[in-house]
Amino acid sequence: MKVLVLNSGSSSLKFQLFEMPEEKVLVKGLAERIGEKIGKFKIGNYIIEKKLTNHASALELLTDYLLNPDNKIITSKDEIKIIGHRVVHGGDKFVQPTIITTEVKDKIKSLFSLAPLHNPANLTGIETAEKLFPKAIQIGIFDTAFHQSIPQEYHQYAIPEKFYKEGIRKYGFHGISHQYVSAKTNEILGKQDTKLITLHLGNGASACAVLNGKSLDTSMGFGPMNGLIMGTRSGDLDQSIIFYLMDKMNYSSSEIQQILNKQSGMTALGGSNDLRDIEKQANSGSKKAELALKMYANAIKKYIGDYTAKLNGLDALVFTAGIGENSSLIRQLATDNMEYFGIAIDKNKNLKPYDYKGDITNKNSKVKVFVIPTNEELEIAKQSFELILDLKKNGL
Ligand code: ADP
Repeated sequence: MKVLVLNSGSSSLKFQLFEMPEEKVLVKGLAERIGEKIGKFKIGNYIIEKKLTNHASALELLTDYLLNPDNKIITSKDEIKIIGHRVVHGGDKFVQPTIITTEVKDKIKSLFSLAPLHNPANLTGIETAEKLFPKAIQIGIFDTAFHQSIPQEYHQYAIPEKFYKEGIRKYGFHGISHQYVSAKTNEILGKQDTKLITLHLGNGASACAVLNGKSLDTSMGFGPMNGLIMGTRSGDLDQSIIFYLMDKMNYSSSEIQQILNKQSGMTALGGSNDLRDIEKQANSGSKKAELALKMYANAIKKYIGDYTAKLNGLDALVFTAGIGENSSLIRQLATDNMEYFGIAIDKNKNLKPYDYKGDITNKNSKVKVFVIPTNEELEIAKQSFELILDLKKNGL
């Protein structure tokens, strides 16, 4: 069965077409700069550069490509039975994969204020796909859903209760990725009752404590700015700084948003949001870059400590996403001097993790340390496909 996965951003659309349950990728690509003068549509070497007025223009190019007889992918749009959409914010309304209905779309809309950059784009993607693939079942997979298992003692903030009742609480993000890598880790460990910490280190970054396959706590909260230090986001910060910036330095709330979201993190510390640049500078002797890397790793350590305490132990520590999968230096810095926690990596394996099937554990380490590539699109395809299988099994 063919399952199309769509991840719609405000000016981008990432897509993958899978044959399920074989998990075979038939097509993978993206459209960028939607709405700008010249957009770009790319599937491997097949590249079109022209104005993409909206998400529909991008999806039309995709359907043309899929239907082109030379590409031998589909002969009719009806062959695509399921479309799985990544939806960033599901609030506390969505705990699992959900078939899109008018009511579901209204709920996604009601969450616009919690995810103003993401949810409107996600909904546009859904509405466009509904028009272009009217026979397909549209399914929403929510980035917050995995974290709905976080108990109140870890998801409530210590502020007046009326705000909690208004929905001000920890939601957490990157749930699809944490779920995917934690399930993979349990497969490797050969058991489900495990204590894990998963570290999704991409442009955005978050840590997650996973107990018996369920999220117990995560480092992002009400929004995606706190927790670990990220490419352009500050991570954890003392709230009084915000009031100082406002009251003493006359910054407006939107300027502070911009500073904490776009001008902070590694961009502020090391002059680039790309960790490769900072590693290069550190290699050429830059003390500033060295400090930036240490601070990045320290933020990770803080959460390893926090979550090991909450889990009361640890079976495995898992690195994933752009930085987690590729930066041996960050993996080394984040696990240095952690013998007390029973964590030690093998320095050689860490340099070539995939030669060791992602297992970079030192032979003296109590805790396993893995590098596991994340695959959010495959997770979306799997969850969407399984939902339909379940519904069929139950005769619905
Ligand atoms: P996104 O959050 O946008 O999905 P990714 O998970 O693709 O991001 O991570 C992107 C980041 O990964 C880049 O900004 C870069 O800092 C980092 N990265 C990618 N490759 C390497 C590498 N070889 N060494 C260090 N960092 C890398």
